[in-house]
Amino acid sequence: MSEVKTRFAPSPTGFMHIGNLRTALYAYLTAKSQGGKFILRIEDTDQDRKVDGAVQVIYDTLSIAGLRNDEGPDCGGPNGPYVQSERLDIYRKYAQQLVEQGDAYYCFCTKDRLAKLHEEQESPDFKGRHGYDGHCRHLPKAEVEALLAAGTPYVIRQKVPQDGVTAYHDVVFGDVSVSNSELQDIVLIKADGFPTYNFAHVIDDHLMEVTHVTRGSEYVAQTPAYILIYRAFGWEHPTYIHLPLIMGKDAEGNVSKLSKRHGSVSFQDMIEDGYLTEAIINYIALLGWNPKTDEEMFTLAELEKRFNPEAINKSPAIFDYEKLLWFNGQYIRKLSADEFYEKALPFIRQAVKNESIDMRKLAALLQQRLEKMTQIPAQLTFFDALPEYSNELYVNAKSKSTLESAPQALAKSIEVLEGLDEWTNEKLYYALKDVAAELGVKANAVMWAVRVAATGTLVTPGGATDILDILGKEESLNRLKNGLARF
Ligand code: GLU
Repeated sequence: MSEVKTRFAPSPTGFMHIGNLRTALYAYLTAKSQGGKFILRIEDTDQDRKVDGAVQVIYDTLSIAGLRNDEGPDCGGPNGPYVQSERLDIYRKYAQQLVEQGDAYYCFCTKDRLAKLHEEQESPDFKGRHGYDGHCRHLPKAEVEALLAAGTPYVIRQKVPQDGVTAYHDVVFGDVSVSNSELQDIVLIKADGFPTYNFAHVIDDHLMEVTHVTRGSEYVAQTPAYILIYRAFGWEHPTYIHLPLIMGKDAEGNVSKLSKRHGSVSFQDMIEDGYLTEAIINYIALLGWNPKTDEEMFTLAELEKRFNPEAINKSPAIFDYEKLLWFNGQYIRKLSADEFYEKALPFIRQAVKNESIDMRKLAALLQQRLEKMTQIPAQLTFFDALPEYSNELYVNAKSKSTLESAPQALAKSIEVLEGLDEWTNEKLYYALKDVAAELGVKANAVMWAVRVAATGTLVTPGGATDILDILGKEESLNRLKNGLARF
Protein backbone atom coordinates (compact mmCIF):
# COMPACT_ATOMS: atom_id res chain seq x y z
CA MET A 1 0.00 0.00 0.00
CA SER A 2 1.15 3.49 -0.73
CA GLU A 3 2.29 5.72 2.09
CA VAL A 4 -0.52 6.83 4.39
CA LYS A 5 -1.34 10.51 3.98
CA THR A 6 -3.96 12.32 5.97
CA ARG A 7 -4.95 15.93 5.98
CA PHE A 8 -6.49 18.54 8.18
CA ALA A 9 -8.47 20.96 6.06
CA PRO A 10 -9.89 23.73 8.20
CA SER A 11 -11.75 26.75 6.97
CA PRO A 12 -10.13 29.86 8.47
CA THR A 13 -12.92 31.07 10.71
CA GLY A 14 -10.73 32.82 13.28
CA PHE A 15 -11.00 30.33 16.10
CA MET A 16 -10.31 26.64 16.57
CA HIS A 17 -13.37 24.78 17.79
CA ILE A 18 -12.33 21.92 20.02
CA GLY A 19 -14.11 19.53 17.60
CA ASN A 20 -11.87 20.78 14.81
CA LEU A 21 -8.82 20.27 16.95
CA ARG A 22 -9.94 16.69 17.62
CA THR A 23 -10.31 16.20 13.85
CA ALA A 24 -6.77 17.51 13.39
CA LEU A 25 -5.49 15.26 16.16
CA TYR A 26 -7.17 12.13 14.80
CA ALA A 27 -5.95 12.88 11.27
CA TYR A 28 -2.45 13.44 12.63
CA LEU A 29 -2.56 10.26 14.70
CA THR A 30 -3.98 8.21 11.83
CA ALA A 31 -0.93 9.20 9.80
CA LYS A 32 1.69 8.97 12.52
CA SER A 33 0.46 5.63 13.89
CA GLN A 34 1.15 4.19 10.42
CA GLY A 35 4.37 6.06 9.70
CA GLY A 36 2.57 8.37 7.28
CA LYS A 37 2.40 12.06 6.46
CA PHE A 38 0.05 14.73 7.74
CA ILE A 39 -0.96 17.60 5.45
CA LEU A 40 -2.45 20.97 6.32
CA ARG A 41 -4.72 22.52 3.71
CA ILE A 42 -6.51 25.81 4.09
CA GLU A 43 -10.07 25.71 2.75
CA ASP A 44 -10.83 29.36 2.12
CA THR A 45 -13.20 29.19 -0.82
CA ASP A 46 -16.01 30.85 1.06
CA GLN A 47 -14.98 34.44 0.48
CA ASP A 48 -17.84 35.85 2.59
CA ARG A 49 -16.47 34.13 5.67
CA LYS A 50 -12.91 35.43 5.33
CA VAL A 51 -11.43 36.60 8.63
CA ASP A 52 -8.11 38.43 8.96
CA GLY A 53 -5.51 36.56 10.95
CA ALA A 54 -7.55 33.35 10.88
CA VAL A 55 -4.88 31.29 9.12
CA GLN A 56 -2.36 32.32 11.75
CA VAL A 57 -4.70 30.97 14.44
CA ILE A 58 -4.59 27.60 12.67
CA TYR A 59 -0.79 27.59 12.44
CA ASP A 60 -0.45 28.64 16.07
CA THR A 61 -2.89 26.06 17.35
CA LEU A 62 -1.25 23.17 15.51
CA SER A 63 2.14 24.33 16.65
CA ILE A 64 1.14 24.71 20.32
CA ALA A 65 -0.61 21.35 20.21
CA GLY A 66 2.49 19.73 18.69
CA LEU A 67 0.67 18.52 15.57
CA ARG A 68 3.49 19.15 13.13
CA ASN A 69 2.37 18.97 9.52
CA ASP A 70 4.66 17.49 6.88
CA GLU A 71 3.13 19.48 4.05
CA GLY A 72 1.19 22.71 4.02
CA PRO A 73 1.23 26.40 3.19
CA ASP A 74 3.71 27.07 5.98
CA CYS A 75 6.24 24.39 5.03
CA GLY A 76 5.51 23.64 1.38
CA GLY A 77 5.44 20.19 -0.17
CA PRO A 78 5.26 18.40 -3.50
CA ASN A 79 1.56 18.99 -4.19
CA GLY A 80 0.99 22.64 -3.38
CA PRO A 81 -0.27 25.24 -3.26
CA TYR A 82 -2.01 24.21 -0.06
CA VAL A 83 -4.43 27.13 0.07
CA GLN A 84 -7.56 26.60 -1.98
CA SER A 85 -7.91 30.21 -3.11
CA GLU A 86 -4.55 29.75 -4.85
CA ARG A 87 -5.80 26.73 -6.78
CA LEU A 88 -8.74 28.21 -8.69
CA ASP A 89 -7.31 27.36 -12.12
CA ILE A 90 -6.96 23.74 -11.10
CA TYR A 91 -10.61 23.44 -10.05
CA ARG A 92 -11.77 25.21 -13.18
CA LYS A 93 -9.81 22.84 -15.42
CA TYR A 94 -11.22 19.74 -13.73
CA ALA A 95 -14.77 21.12 -13.69
CA GLN A 96 -14.51 21.75 -17.41
CA GLN A 97 -13.33 18.22 -17.93
CA LEU A 98 -16.44 16.96 -16.19
CA VAL A 99 -18.63 19.18 -18.35
CA GLU A 100 -16.98 17.84 -21.49
CA GLN A 101 -17.44 14.26 -20.30
CA GLY A 102 -21.11 14.88 -19.55
CA ASP A 103 -20.65 14.47 -15.77
CA ALA A 104 -21.34 18.14 -15.01
CA TYR A 105 -23.21 20.97 -16.68
CA TYR A 106 -23.52 24.74 -16.82
CA CYS A 107 -26.52 26.04 -14.96
CA PHE A 108 -27.78 29.53 -15.77
CA CYS A 109 -30.74 29.55 -13.38
CA THR A 110 -31.09 32.93 -11.73
CA LYS A 111 -31.35 33.46 -8.00
CA ASP A 112 -34.99 34.45 -8.53
CA ARG A 113 -35.83 31.24 -10.32
CA LEU A 114 -34.18 29.16 -7.61
CA ALA A 115 -35.96 31.12 -4.89
CA LYS A 116 -39.29 30.55 -6.62
CA LEU A 117 -38.55 26.87 -6.99
CA HIS A 118 -37.73 26.66 -3.32
CA GLU A 119 -40.95 28.44 -2.41
CA GLU A 120 -43.05 26.04 -4.52
CA GLN A 121 -41.37 23.08 -2.90
CA GLU A 122 -42.12 24.42 0.56
CA SER A 123 -45.85 24.38 -0.16
CA PRO A 124 -47.77 21.54 1.55
CA ASP A 125 -49.30 20.56 -1.83
CA PHE A 126 -45.91 19.95 -3.41
CA LYS A 127 -45.52 16.28 -4.26
CA GLY A 128 -42.33 16.14 -6.34
CA ARG A 129 -38.67 15.89 -5.49
CA HIS A 130 -37.06 18.61 -3.40
CA GLY A 131 -33.95 20.47 -4.47
CA TYR A 132 -32.72 21.61 -7.84
CA ASP A 133 -35.09 20.45 -10.61
CA GLY A 134 -32.47 19.82 -13.28
CA HIS A 135 -33.74 22.71 -15.46
CA CYS A 136 -30.34 23.23 -17.13
CA ARG A 137 -29.33 19.59 -17.16
CA HIS A 138 -30.30 19.05 -20.77
CA LEU A 139 -29.78 22.47 -22.35
CA PRO A 140 -28.69 22.07 -25.99
CA LYS A 141 -24.99 22.69 -26.52
CA ALA A 142 -25.62 25.62 -28.87
CA GLU A 143 -27.80 27.35 -26.30
CA VAL A 144 -25.15 26.87 -23.62
CA GLU A 145 -22.52 28.36 -25.90
CA ALA A 146 -24.67 31.35 -26.77
CA LEU A 147 -25.41 32.04 -23.10
CA LEU A 148 -21.71 31.75 -22.22
CA ALA A 149 -20.76 34.03 -25.12
CA ALA A 150 -23.30 36.58 -23.90
CA GLY A 151 -21.61 36.57 -20.49
CA THR A 152 -24.61 35.10 -18.65
CA PRO A 153 -23.70 34.27 -15.05
CA TYR A 154 -23.58 30.55 -14.37
CA VAL A 155 -22.61 27.84 -11.93
CA ILE A 156 -21.34 24.36 -12.78
CA ARG A 157 -23.35 21.49 -11.34
CA GLN A 158 -22.57 17.83 -10.90
CA LYS A 159 -24.71 15.60 -13.15
CA VAL A 160 -25.65 12.80 -10.77
CA PRO A 161 -26.79 9.54 -12.40
CA GLN A 162 -30.53 9.18 -11.89
CA ASP A 163 -30.51 5.51 -11.04
CA GLY A 164 -28.27 3.13 -9.15
CA VAL A 165 -26.84 3.16 -5.68
CA THR A 166 -23.54 4.55 -4.48
CA ALA A 167 -21.96 2.83 -1.49
CA TYR A 168 -18.75 2.99 0.49
CA HIS A 169 -17.25 1.55 3.59
CA ASP A 170 -16.49 3.98 6.39
CA VAL A 171 -13.92 2.92 8.96
CA VAL A 172 -16.12 4.20 11.80
CA PHE A 173 -19.69 4.12 10.46
CA GLY A 174 -19.42 0.90 8.46
CA ASP A 175 -21.24 0.43 5.16
CA VAL A 176 -23.05 3.51 3.91
CA SER A 177 -25.14 3.53 0.77
CA VAL A 178 -27.42 6.05 -0.88
CA SER A 179 -29.70 5.78 -3.92
CA ASN A 180 -28.41 8.17 -6.53
CA SER A 181 -31.96 9.41 -6.99
CA GLU A 182 -31.70 10.92 -3.51
CA LEU A 183 -28.59 12.91 -4.39
CA GLN A 184 -28.72 16.46 -5.70
CA ASP A 185 -26.96 17.97 -8.68
CA ILE A 186 -24.75 19.93 -6.32
CA VAL A 187 -22.90 23.07 -7.35
CA LEU A 188 -19.22 22.44 -8.08
CA ILE A 189 -18.18 25.91 -9.22
CA LYS A 190 -20.03 28.94 -7.90
CA ALA A 191 -21.03 32.06 -9.82
CA ASP A 192 -18.00 33.90 -8.39
CA GLY A 193 -15.71 31.34 -10.01
CA PHE A 194 -14.77 29.77 -6.68
CA PRO A 195 -15.32 26.05 -6.17
CA THR A 196 -17.58 24.73 -3.45
CA TYR A 197 -16.17 22.63 -0.64
CA ASN A 198 -17.92 19.67 -2.26
CA PHE A 199 -15.79 19.91 -5.37
CA ALA A 200 -12.55 21.45 -4.18
CA HIS A 201 -11.83 18.91 -1.47
CA VAL A 202 -12.25 15.99 -3.88
CA ILE A 203 -9.81 17.49 -6.36
CA ASP A 204 -7.35 18.39 -3.62
CA ASP A 205 -7.53 15.10 -1.77
CA HIS A 206 -6.81 13.32 -5.04
CA LEU A 207 -3.99 15.59 -6.22
CA MET A 208 -2.44 15.74 -2.75
CA GLU A 209 -2.50 11.91 -2.66
CA VAL A 210 -4.55 11.77 0.51
CA THR A 211 -5.19 8.14 1.45
CA HIS A 212 -7.40 8.67 4.52
CA VAL A 213 -9.99 11.42 4.95
CA THR A 214 -10.64 12.11 8.62
CA ARG A 215 -13.45 14.59 9.22
CA GLY A 216 -16.68 15.24 11.10
CA SER A 217 -19.65 12.92 10.70
CA GLU A 218 -21.74 15.69 9.12
CA TYR A 219 -20.22 14.55 5.81
CA VAL A 220 -21.21 10.87 6.03
CA ALA A 221 -24.40 11.16 4.00
CA GLN A 222 -22.92 13.47 1.38
CA THR A 223 -19.89 11.30 0.72
CA PRO A 224 -21.55 9.14 -2.00
CA ALA A 225 -21.91 12.32 -4.09
CA TYR A 226 -18.17 12.89 -3.69
CA ILE A 227 -17.45 9.30 -4.63
CA LEU A 228 -19.39 9.85 -7.86
CA ILE A 229 -16.99 12.69 -8.65
CA TYR A 230 -14.00 10.41 -8.09
CA ARG A 231 -15.59 7.81 -10.35
CA ALA A 232 -16.31 10.36 -13.06
CA PHE A 233 -12.59 11.07 -13.17
CA GLY A 234 -11.67 7.41 -12.94
CA TRP A 235 -9.90 8.00 -9.62
CA GLU A 236 -9.86 5.81 -6.57
CA HIS A 237 -11.48 7.41 -3.57
CA PRO A 238 -9.68 7.59 -0.21
CA THR A 239 -10.57 5.64 2.90
CA TYR A 240 -13.12 7.55 4.97
CA ILE A 241 -12.88 7.97 8.73
CA HIS A 242 -15.85 10.03 9.85
CA LEU A 243 -15.69 11.09 13.47
CA PRO A 244 -18.52 10.96 15.99
CA LEU A 245 -20.25 14.15 17.04
CA ILE A 246 -19.13 15.93 20.18
CA MET A 247 -22.03 16.73 22.48
CA GLY A 248 -22.32 18.80 25.63
CA LYS A 249 -24.54 18.25 28.67
CA ASP A 250 -26.23 21.21 30.32
CA ALA A 251 -27.06 21.66 33.99
CA GLU A 252 -30.44 19.94 33.50
CA GLY A 253 -28.76 16.93 31.93
CA ASN A 254 -29.96 17.71 28.39
CA VAL A 255 -27.54 16.66 25.69
CA SER A 256 -27.00 18.72 22.54
CA LYS A 257 -24.20 19.58 20.16
CA LEU A 258 -21.30 21.09 22.12
CA SER A 259 -21.66 24.85 22.15
CA LYS A 260 -20.74 27.90 24.19
CA ARG A 261 -23.56 27.34 26.64
CA HIS A 262 -21.75 24.21 27.85
CA GLY A 263 -18.43 25.98 28.44
CA SER A 264 -15.42 27.07 26.43
CA VAL A 265 -15.46 25.47 23.01
CA SER A 266 -12.45 26.96 21.30
CA PHE A 267 -8.90 25.90 21.96
CA GLN A 268 -7.86 29.51 22.63
CA ASP A 269 -10.64 29.98 25.20
CA MET A 270 -9.68 26.77 26.95
CA ILE A 271 -6.08 27.90 27.20
CA GLU A 272 -7.24 31.25 28.54
CA ASP A 273 -9.45 29.39 30.97
CA GLY A 274 -6.34 27.82 32.46
CA TYR A 275 -6.23 24.41 30.81
CA LEU A 276 -2.86 23.01 29.77
CA THR A 277 -2.35 21.96 26.17
CA GLU A 278 -1.23 18.45 27.19
CA ALA A 279 -4.39 17.96 29.23
CA ILE A 280 -6.61 19.14 26.37
CA ILE A 281 -4.86 16.88 23.87
CA ASN A 282 -5.00 13.89 26.20
CA TYR A 283 -8.66 14.49 26.95
CA ILE A 284 -9.82 15.04 23.36
CA ALA A 285 -7.86 11.98 22.19
CA LEU A 286 -10.33 9.99 24.29
CA LEU A 287 -13.39 11.74 22.84
CA GLY A 288 -14.39 8.90 20.56
CA TRP A 289 -11.35 6.67 20.85
CA ASN A 290 -10.02 4.51 23.64
CA PRO A 291 -7.11 2.11 23.92
CA LYS A 292 -9.42 -0.74 25.03
CA THR A 293 -7.67 -0.79 28.39
CA ASP A 294 -8.17 1.29 31.55
CA GLU A 295 -5.27 3.59 30.72
CA GLU A 296 -6.15 7.23 30.32
CA MET A 297 -2.96 9.24 30.58
CA PHE A 298 -1.29 9.58 27.21
CA THR A 299 1.29 11.97 25.89
CA LEU A 300 1.14 12.85 22.21
CA ALA A 301 4.15 10.61 21.57
CA GLU A 302 2.36 7.68 23.20
CA LEU A 303 -0.79 8.36 21.22
CA GLU A 304 1.23 8.31 18.03
CA LYS A 305 2.08 4.70 18.83
CA ARG A 306 -1.20 3.56 20.33
CA PHE A 307 -3.85 5.22 18.19
CA ASN A 308 -5.84 3.03 15.85
CA PRO A 309 -8.65 4.53 13.74
CA GLU A 310 -10.41 1.14 13.71
CA ALA A 311 -11.09 1.66 17.42
CA ILE A 312 -12.97 4.95 16.98
CA ASN A 313 -16.48 4.70 18.34
CA LYS A 314 -19.35 5.95 16.21
CA SER A 315 -21.65 6.96 19.05
CA PRO A 316 -21.53 10.63 19.98
CA ALA A 317 -18.94 11.60 22.56
CA ILE A 318 -19.95 13.76 25.50
CA PHE A 319 -17.55 16.52 26.42
CA ASP A 320 -17.14 16.31 30.18
CA TYR A 321 -15.57 19.47 31.61
CA GLU A 322 -15.16 17.81 35.02
CA LYS A 323 -13.05 15.11 33.46
CA LEU A 324 -10.98 17.65 31.57
CA LEU A 325 -10.41 19.42 34.88
CA TRP A 326 -9.23 16.18 36.41
CA PHE A 327 -6.77 15.65 33.55
CA ASN A 328 -5.61 19.22 33.97
CA GLY A 329 -4.88 18.67 37.65
CA GLN A 330 -2.87 15.57 36.77
CA TYR A 331 -0.83 17.49 34.20
CA ILE A 332 -0.28 20.41 36.57
CA ARG A 333 1.24 17.98 39.05
CA LYS A 334 3.49 16.52 36.35
CA LEU A 335 5.07 19.91 35.59
CA SER A 336 8.48 20.57 37.06
CA ALA A 337 8.53 23.22 39.79
CA ASP A 338 10.10 25.66 37.35
CA GLU A 339 7.61 25.00 34.57
CA PHE A 340 4.73 25.41 36.97
CA TYR A 341 6.19 28.58 38.44
CA GLU A 342 6.52 30.13 35.01
CA LYS A 343 2.94 29.33 34.06
CA ALA A 344 1.50 30.25 37.44
CA LEU A 345 3.32 33.53 38.03
CA PRO A 346 1.06 35.75 35.88
CA PHE A 347 -1.97 34.38 37.73
CA ILE A 348 -0.32 34.79 41.14
CA ARG A 349 0.58 38.37 40.30
CA GLN A 350 -3.04 39.14 39.55
CA ALA A 351 -3.79 38.70 43.25
CA VAL A 352 -0.50 39.24 45.03
CA LYS A 353 1.27 42.57 44.53
CA ASN A 354 3.32 42.42 47.70
CA GLU A 355 6.93 42.08 46.53
CA SER A 356 8.16 40.53 49.75
CA ILE A 357 6.11 37.38 49.27
CA ASP A 358 8.16 34.40 48.12
CA MET A 359 6.37 33.56 44.88
CA ARG A 360 8.22 30.29 44.43
CA LYS A 361 7.03 28.97 47.76
CA LEU A 362 3.54 30.09 46.92
CA ALA A 363 3.70 28.33 43.57
CA ALA A 364 4.93 25.11 45.18
CA LEU A 365 1.92 25.19 47.47
CA LEU A 366 -0.53 25.79 44.65
CA GLN A 367 0.85 23.05 42.44
CA GLN A 368 -0.26 20.35 44.87
CA ARG A 369 -3.98 20.97 44.68
CA LEU A 370 -4.75 23.15 41.71
CA GLU A 371 -7.00 22.01 38.88
CA LYS A 372 -6.55 24.97 36.58
CA MET A 373 -4.45 28.11 36.48
CA THR A 374 -7.37 30.49 36.50
CA GLN A 375 -8.33 29.21 39.94
CA ILE A 376 -5.17 30.82 41.33
CA PRO A 377 -6.08 34.49 41.96
CA ALA A 378 -9.26 33.73 43.90
CA GLN A 379 -7.25 31.52 46.28
CA LEU A 380 -4.73 34.23 47.10
CA THR A 381 -6.88 37.23 47.89
CA PHE A 382 -5.76 37.30 51.55
CA PHE A 383 -2.04 37.65 50.91
CA ASP A 384 -1.83 41.38 50.24
CA ALA A 385 -4.29 42.31 52.96
CA LEU A 386 -6.37 40.48 55.50
CA PRO A 387 -9.99 40.51 54.33
CA GLU A 388 -12.96 41.37 56.53
CA TYR A 389 -14.18 38.22 58.22
CA SER A 390 -16.59 37.00 60.85
CA ASN A 391 -15.51 35.29 64.07
CA GLU A 392 -17.80 32.43 63.09
CA LEU A 393 -14.89 31.26 60.95
CA TYR A 394 -13.09 30.23 64.12
CA VAL A 395 -15.77 27.65 64.86
CA ASN A 396 -15.12 24.23 63.39
CA ALA A 397 -16.45 21.04 64.90
CA LYS A 398 -14.10 18.64 63.18
CA SER A 399 -11.00 20.51 64.32
CA LYS A 400 -12.60 21.12 67.72
CA SER A 401 -12.09 24.85 67.38
CA THR A 402 -14.54 27.04 69.29
CA LEU A 403 -14.94 30.70 70.23
CA GLU A 404 -13.38 29.77 73.58
CA SER A 405 -10.48 27.69 72.31
CA ALA A 406 -9.50 30.03 69.47
CA PRO A 407 -8.34 33.07 71.55
CA GLN A 408 -6.40 30.76 73.85
CA ALA A 409 -4.74 29.11 70.89
CA LEU A 410 -3.87 32.48 69.39
CA ALA A 411 -2.49 33.92 72.61
CA LYS A 412 -0.22 30.96 73.21
CA SER A 413 0.83 30.76 69.56
CA ILE A 414 1.84 34.43 69.55
CA GLU A 415 3.92 33.91 72.66
CA VAL A 416 5.68 30.85 71.25
CA LEU A 417 6.15 32.14 67.72
CA GLU A 418 7.58 35.45 68.89
CA GLY A 419 10.43 33.45 70.38
CA LEU A 420 10.96 31.34 67.28
CA ASP A 421 14.39 32.07 65.82
CA GLU A 422 14.02 30.19 62.56
CA TRP A 423 10.85 30.95 60.58
CA THR A 424 10.46 27.80 58.47
CA ASN A 425 7.46 25.68 57.75
CA GLU A 426 8.92 22.79 59.71
CA LYS A 427 9.83 24.84 62.79
CA LEU A 428 6.42 26.50 62.72
CA TYR A 429 4.74 23.14 62.55
CA TYR A 430 6.50 21.75 65.61
CA ALA A 431 6.06 24.99 67.49
CA LEU A 432 2.28 24.92 66.99
CA LYS A 433 2.13 21.24 67.93
CA ASP A 434 3.87 22.18 71.17
CA VAL A 435 1.33 24.95 71.72
CA ALA A 436 -1.47 22.39 71.41
CA ALA A 437 0.26 20.00 73.77
CA GLU A 438 0.75 22.73 76.35
CA LEU A 439 -2.89 23.77 76.11
CA GLY A 440 -4.04 20.17 76.16
CA VAL A 441 -6.03 20.53 72.93
CA LYS A 442 -5.90 18.85 69.53
CA ALA A 443 -3.22 20.20 67.18
CA ASN A 444 -5.96 20.77 64.63
CA ALA A 445 -7.73 23.21 66.93
CA VAL A 446 -4.61 25.39 67.09
CA MET A 447 -3.90 25.08 63.36
CA TRP A 448 -7.48 26.08 62.61
CA ALA A 449 -7.44 29.20 64.75
CA VAL A 450 -4.04 30.28 63.46
CA ARG A 451 -4.99 29.74 59.85
CA VAL A 452 -8.20 31.74 60.23
CA ALA A 453 -6.37 34.59 61.94
CA ALA A 454 -3.66 34.57 59.28
CA THR A 455 -6.00 34.50 56.31
CA GLY A 456 -9.53 35.50 57.34
CA THR A 457 -10.53 32.84 54.83
CA LEU A 458 -12.01 29.36 55.13
CA VAL A 459 -10.50 27.67 52.11
CA THR A 460 -6.81 28.35 51.62
CA PRO A 461 -4.17 26.86 49.34
CA GLY A 462 -2.19 25.42 52.22
CA GLY A 463 -2.27 24.74 55.93
CA ALA A 464 -1.57 27.21 58.76
CA THR A 465 2.19 26.79 58.76
CA ASP A 466 2.50 26.89 54.96
CA ILE A 467 0.87 30.27 55.05
CA LEU A 468 2.75 31.68 58.05
CA ASP A 469 5.96 30.61 56.37
CA ILE A 470 5.10 32.60 53.24
CA LEU A 471 3.69 35.64 55.08
CA GLY A 472 6.88 35.98 57.15
CA LYS A 473 7.31 36.54 60.85
CA GLU A 474 6.27 40.16 61.19
CA GLU A 475 3.14 40.01 59.07
CA SER A 476 2.11 36.68 60.58
CA LEU A 477 2.39 37.94 64.14
CA ASN A 478 0.49 41.12 63.27
CA ARG A 479 -2.34 39.04 61.87
CA LEU A 480 -2.44 36.67 64.84
CA LYS A 481 -2.52 39.64 67.23
CA ASN A 482 -5.26 41.23 65.21
CA GLY A 483 -7.16 37.93 65.51
CA LEU A 484 -6.71 37.77 69.23
CA ALA A 485 -7.87 41.38 69.64
CA ARG A 486 -11.21 40.46 68.09
CA PHE A 487 -12.20 38.47 71.19
N1 GLU B 1 -13.22 22.85 5.51
C1 GLU B 1 -14.06 21.83 6.07
C2 GLU B 1 -14.49 22.27 7.45
O1 GLU B 1 -13.82 23.09 8.05
C3 GLU B 1 -13.27 20.55 6.18
C4 GLU B 1 -14.01 19.33 6.01
C5 GLU B 1 -13.04 18.22 5.66
O2 GLU B 1 -12.16 17.95 6.46
O3 GLU B 1 -13.15 17.67 4.56
O4 GLU B 1 -15.51 21.79 7.91
